[in-house]
Amino acid sequence: MRTPNTELLTPKVTHSLEHLFAVALRAEFEEHQRDLQVLDVSPMGCRTGYYLTVLNPAGALPLSRATEAVRAMLPEALEIRELPGARLEMCGAYREHDFEQAREEIVRLTREEIVSLEKPPLLG
Ligand SMILES: [Zn+2]
Repeated sequence: MRTPNTELLTPKVTHSLEHLFAVALRAEFEEHQRDLQVLDVSPMGCRTGYYLTVLNPAGALPLSRATEAVRAMLPEALEIRELPGARLEMCGAYREHDFEQAREEIVRLTREEIVSLEKPPLLG
């Protein structure tokens, strides 16, 4: 999502996107990839992107399909009007969010080309 060592996501935006992506990706997989299960969406410590961990029996999810799922999930994430799980009993840092900036980041992502995960740009 971001170029390493240049324009990192802020910690609050990173955290809010984690909550939004978890809900939107689970919904996307629930609707279109019912044989798969999203186990985790977690931010990279360097704040440049996220890891997506999927229970993928027999290699049912090609990386190109995972990329499509990420593309398809972005508009769904924008439909979310209240940040999921951002309450004391559900989040260990419920005050450390920036929902509006996270939404702006998603809008920015919808305008960007999302490179297929089979060809990560930094790995050539
Ligand atoms: Zn949280």
